[in-house]
Amino acid sequence: MECPMCKGKMEKMKDIIKQDGMSFDAFRCTACGEEIMNMQQLKMLAQKYRKLRHAKEITFAKWGNSIAVRIPSEIVDEYHITSGKQGILTKDKEGIRIIPA
Ligand SMILES: [Zn+2]
Repeated sequence: MECPMCKGKMEKMKDIIKQDGMSFDAFRCTACGEEIMNMQQLKMLAQKYRKLRHAKEITFAKWGNSIAVRIPSEIVDEYHITSGKQGILTKDKEGIRIIPA
Protein backbone atom coordinates (compact mmCIF):
# COMPACT_ATOMS: atom_id res chain seq x y z
CA MET A 1 0.00 0.00 0.00
CA GLU A 2 1.20 3.49 -0.86
CA CYS A 3 0.83 6.62 1.30
CA PRO A 4 -1.79 9.00 -0.18
CA MET A 5 0.14 11.99 1.18
CA CYS A 6 3.77 11.33 0.21
CA LYS A 7 3.68 8.02 -1.74
CA GLY A 8 5.79 6.48 1.02
CA LYS A 9 5.42 2.93 2.26
CA MET A 10 2.47 2.11 4.57
CA GLU A 11 2.99 -0.48 7.29
CA LYS A 12 0.41 -2.23 9.42
CA MET A 13 0.57 -1.03 13.02
CA LYS A 14 -1.29 -1.21 16.30
CA ASP A 15 -1.98 1.95 18.25
CA ILE A 16 -3.94 3.01 21.30
CA ILE A 17 -6.34 5.92 21.71
CA LYS A 18 -5.01 7.28 24.98
CA GLN A 19 -8.24 8.82 26.37
CA ASP A 20 -9.98 5.47 26.70
CA GLY A 21 -7.24 2.89 26.21
CA MET A 22 -8.86 1.63 23.02
CA SER A 23 -6.44 -0.27 20.80
CA PHE A 24 -6.84 -0.31 17.04
CA ASP A 25 -5.16 -1.53 13.86
CA ALA A 26 -4.28 0.86 11.08
CA PHE A 27 -1.63 1.54 8.47
CA ARG A 28 1.06 4.12 9.10
CA CYS A 29 3.38 5.71 6.57
CA THR A 30 7.01 5.00 7.43
CA ALA A 31 8.03 8.31 5.80
CA CYS A 32 5.51 10.97 6.97
CA GLY A 33 3.59 9.17 9.74
CA GLU A 34 0.18 9.51 8.07
CA GLU A 35 -2.27 6.95 9.50
CA ILE A 36 -5.14 5.42 7.58
CA MET A 37 -7.60 2.64 8.26
CA ASN A 38 -9.31 0.34 5.82
CA MET A 39 -13.03 -0.50 6.10
CA GLN A 40 -12.43 -3.60 8.16
CA GLN A 41 -10.21 -1.77 10.64
CA LEU A 42 -12.81 1.00 10.94
CA LYS A 43 -15.55 -1.52 11.55
CA MET A 44 -13.49 -3.21 14.25
CA LEU A 45 -12.93 0.08 16.06
CA ALA A 46 -16.61 1.06 15.77
CA GLN A 47 -17.58 -2.31 17.19
CA LYS A 48 -15.25 -1.83 20.16
CA TYR A 49 -16.81 1.55 20.88
CA ARG A 50 -20.30 0.11 20.66
CA LYS A 51 -19.32 -2.52 23.21
CA LEU A 52 -17.83 0.13 25.47
CA ARG A 53 -21.01 2.24 25.34
CA HIS A 54 -23.03 -0.76 26.48
CA ALA A 55 -20.58 -1.39 29.27
CA LYS A 56 -21.71 -1.03 32.87
CA GLU A 57 -19.52 -0.45 35.85
CA ILE A 58 -19.41 -3.25 38.37
CA THR A 59 -18.03 -3.66 41.86
CA PHE A 60 -16.05 -6.60 43.16
CA ALA A 61 -16.77 -7.70 46.71
CA LYS A 62 -15.29 -10.31 49.00
CA TRP A 63 -17.44 -13.39 49.56
CA GLY A 64 -15.72 -15.97 51.78
CA ASN A 65 -12.45 -16.75 50.05
CA SER A 66 -13.82 -15.74 46.68
CA ILE A 67 -14.58 -12.47 45.03
CA ALA A 68 -18.16 -11.78 44.01
CA VAL A 69 -19.36 -9.40 41.33
CA ARG A 70 -22.31 -7.13 41.98
CA ILE A 71 -24.46 -7.08 38.86
CA PRO A 72 -26.52 -3.93 38.25
CA SER A 73 -30.29 -4.45 38.62
CA GLU A 74 -31.13 -3.55 35.00
CA ILE A 75 -28.83 -6.37 33.82
CA VAL A 76 -30.35 -8.74 36.40
CA ASP A 77 -33.82 -7.96 35.03
CA GLU A 78 -32.80 -8.16 31.39
CA TYR A 79 -31.20 -11.60 31.79
CA HIS A 80 -33.69 -12.88 34.39
CA ILE A 81 -30.94 -13.62 36.88
CA THR A 82 -32.03 -14.80 40.29
CA SER A 83 -30.04 -15.77 43.37
CA GLY A 84 -29.00 -19.42 43.07
CA LYS A 85 -29.39 -19.48 39.31
CA GLN A 86 -26.39 -20.89 37.51
CA GLY A 87 -24.36 -19.60 34.65
CA ILE A 88 -20.98 -20.02 33.11
CA LEU A 89 -17.92 -17.87 33.16
CA THR A 90 -15.54 -17.80 30.22
CA LYS A 91 -12.33 -15.96 29.55
CA ASP A 92 -11.56 -14.06 26.38
CA LYS A 93 -8.77 -11.71 25.30
CA GLU A 94 -10.41 -8.66 26.87
CA GLY A 95 -11.58 -10.16 30.12
CA ILE A 96 -14.25 -12.32 31.68
CA ARG A 97 -17.65 -13.02 30.20
CA ILE A 98 -20.63 -14.19 32.26
CA ILE A 99 -23.31 -16.19 30.50
CA PRO A 100 -26.49 -16.86 32.53
CA ALA A 101 -27.80 -20.38 31.92
ZN1 LIG B 1 3.47 9.41 3.83
